[in-house]
Amino acid sequence: MRKPLIAGNWKMNGSLALLERFGSALSGSALSDRVDVALITPFPYLVPALQTFRDRSVGIGAQTLNPAPDGALTGEVSGPMLQDCGVRYVLAGHSERRTLFGENDQDVSMRVTAALAHGLTPILCIGETLEQRDANRVEEVVLSQVTTVFDTLEPAERHRVIIAYEPVWAIGTGRTATPEQAQAVHALIRQRLAEYDSTLATDMRLLYGGSMKPDNAGELLAQPDIDGGLIGGASLKPDDFLSICYAA
Ligand code: PGA
Repeated sequence: MRKPLIAGNWKMNGSLALLERFGSALSGSALSDRVDVALITPFPYLVPALQTFRDRSVGIGAQTLNPAPDGALTGEVSGPMLQDCGVRYVLAGHSERRTLFGENDQDVSMRVTAALAHGLTPILCIGETLEQRDANRVEEVVLSQVTTVFDTLEPAERHRVIIAYEPVWAIGTGRTATPEQAQAVHALIRQRLAEYDSTLATDMRLLYGGSMKPDNAGELLAQPDIDGGLIGGASLKPDDFLSICYAA
């Protein structure tokens, strides 16, 4: 059985005060047996978040990394630095990185490889735009985002990746994919993974992301191929986030 993962992506939001509220809401919530919980914070809050959850009840993740291990790259943060601090997860290929910061599949692939090389768990984000969906290109777009990364990985490395399917048109828009739409794409991804190896398909956690909220989380998470959520807006409210965790 795949243990669900609920990961909150704060994006460029949050504060030490919000972290403190999450600390009180999540510590001792007795969730960790049934669901893995992660908070993906901006860089300045990673170390305070690790201290807040030093019992490791909540895994802490970064939103990106530079694929180089070190160097003259002002403003960047590397995999070894995240590992050094005790960070567990890192996002790669979030649609905001792809569209606003020009990261292409090759950049995303390098980030996944760097994360794996430094003991981090990459959460590979994929998903089609509305235009691509309307042109019936969902399968082609999503599966090529998976294969460009997975083709470059060793078999054992593939098992250490988590995939988040996030239709771009559902991110931050309040418009969620229906459970059927999300399930259909998750099933396609799992079929593609089975072509690499059948245990990869049965073991890999596939998260859904895009306007997941307390009132729609239950039916999305009830789908057979949806193993958790990557939560943006609703991860800024401890009560909402906690209800989604309980829904899993
Ligand atoms: P949202 O964001 O929940 O605000 O739609 C999801 C994400 O971008 O990971």
